[in-house]
Amino acid sequence: MFFLKNREEREIRTLKTMIRMYCKAKHHPEGYLCDSCAEVLSYAAMKYHRCMFGKNKPVCSVCPVHCYNHVMRKRIREIMRFSGPRMIFNHPVMAIEHLLVQRWSKKNMPLFLKRVRGKQKRNSNLKSA
Ligand SMILES: [Zn+2]
Repeated sequence: MFFLKNREEREIRTLKTMIRMYCKAKHHPEGYLCDSCAEVLSYAAMKYHRCMFGKNKPVCSVCPVHCYNHVMRKRIREIMRFSGPRMIFNHPVMAIEHLLVQRWSKKNMPLFLKRVRGKQKRNSNLKSA
């Protein structure tokens, strides 16, 4: 499916755009990101690259795995809550691409859950051995 091609590049770009939008309104109107938002961006990009689902990851908002720590989860959610509704007006292509991947993620949720349970099972086997 076309919207799954070169996802990584496009999704990291979307992530940057959304964090930038938030930082511009709340912290740094000029220039690039403030230190705090730059930290969120590099954390989120690191998590994206290390996702256990690899290239076929679900979108983070519907993912069954909670890989963000508590603090970062709170910060990214605040950013998404602010920038999310503004994306459809400011960056409609990015917004629609995201909706398509989100729909695809929901449709494939049984596969993601199966994969998560498989991993947990392997881990518990390791522990009991
Ligand atoms: Zn900021």
